[in-house]
Amino acid sequence: MASRRWRKPEEDVAVGRGRGSAGGQNGLLGLAAAYSQGTRAAFMERYMADLKRLADRNDLPEGARWFDSHCHLESILQRSWRGGGKPQVTENEPQVNLEEMVSLWPKGLDGCVSNFAFRRESKPGVPAEWIWIDRHLHFFEPDSPIAGKLWFTIGLHPHDAGNWDASAEQTVRRLAAHPKCVGIGECGLDFFKHDRSEAELQLRTFRAQAMLAVELGKALVIHARLTTQQNEEMFLQELKRIVPQTHPIHIHCFSDSLAYAEELMAHWQNLRIGFTGAITFRDSERGKGGKSKGKAKVKKGEEHCRELVQGLPLQRLLIETDGPYMCPEPFRGQTAHPGHVHRVAERIAEWKNVELGEVMEATWLSTVTVYGLKSSKDPKGS
Ligand SMILES: [Zn+2]
Repeated sequence: MASRRWRKPEEDVAVGRGRGSAGGQNGLLGLAAAYSQGTRAAFMERYMADLKRLADRNDLPEGARWFDSHCHLESILQRSWRGGGKPQVTENEPQVNLEEMVSLWPKGLDGCVSNFAFRRESKPGVPAEWIWIDRHLHFFEPDSPIAGKLWFTIGLHPHDAGNWDASAEQTVRRLAAHPKCVGIGECGLDFFKHDRSEAELQLRTFRAQAMLAVELGKALVIHARLTTQQNEEMFLQELKRIVPQTHPIHIHCFSDSLAYAEELMAHWQNLRIGFTGAITFRDSERGKGGKSKGKAKVKKGEEHCRELVQGLPLQRLLIETDGPYMCPEPFRGQTAHPGHVHRVAERIAEWKNVELGEVMEATWLSTVTVYGLKSSKDPKGS
């Protein structure tokens, strides 16, 4: 395996670090440092053991390839939640830099599509995703040793919908012209975190980007948390009005209804539906630390995810981490990154009762279909 040299904590510029760190007392600091080293080593050991377990599966052929079709490299490296700046990770997780992280991915992982969807900064003093990609384009360029594993999208998330204007459009057009930019988004509507009164604002920002994706011939990456049938119908009409039936679409981290997913798939032949580490969570663990929301009989998250995965054809699915968020079990709570995405594929294989190799093959092909990627499996690959 490649380098295990992790960046020392004092070299790290990440935010959200040091929460709960022992301050002031030298002796305590020494103890804390020793403890941190041990914990970091344990994180690495667990990760490497998981990759070995994966390689030993007898339903994963030697040459199997796969992609993480949706993550956020900037946030994986900065490790901050959008908006709140809340530390995403368990204390003492190893600090990583991009080249080291890529070197530690399993050999079947052909790479990732990283979304850059925030113009606003996630925390004062931390560059926004849009700033980050501008400063780090060199990772995606031919002389970078890891460029062959990286692609990106540019757009504006519904959480940042108020920031769409003429200069935002200019930035999106400029970055979209980069050869490794394969999509516009993630963009869309979110009525889970936002009030319905924001609908017009979110729609305006979404329409502009959907039109751009069509004009530029880039995949449209959609973030939609529609929550009601009425919203699903409204969004479907919007999409039909703007996006031609052959246009590639990735509905990321799908959580709406099965009937709606079926309508989407029937209309757009190159539309794919993405699932994240959230499908590996068990209901008993979902509510950790939370209060019961009453006795109403609602379909639980796990049951809904299973119904979706089992109800949709494998050929229409994508696997994604949405890293750093929703790290799959058994790593829940840590920083998700593309090296964890096989856990999502394993849950799909379990629920669909098919071999893992089949899930990898189908989702690999779907990623290539939606994003037009060239990978090491392809003779024309980078
Ligand atoms: Zn995302």
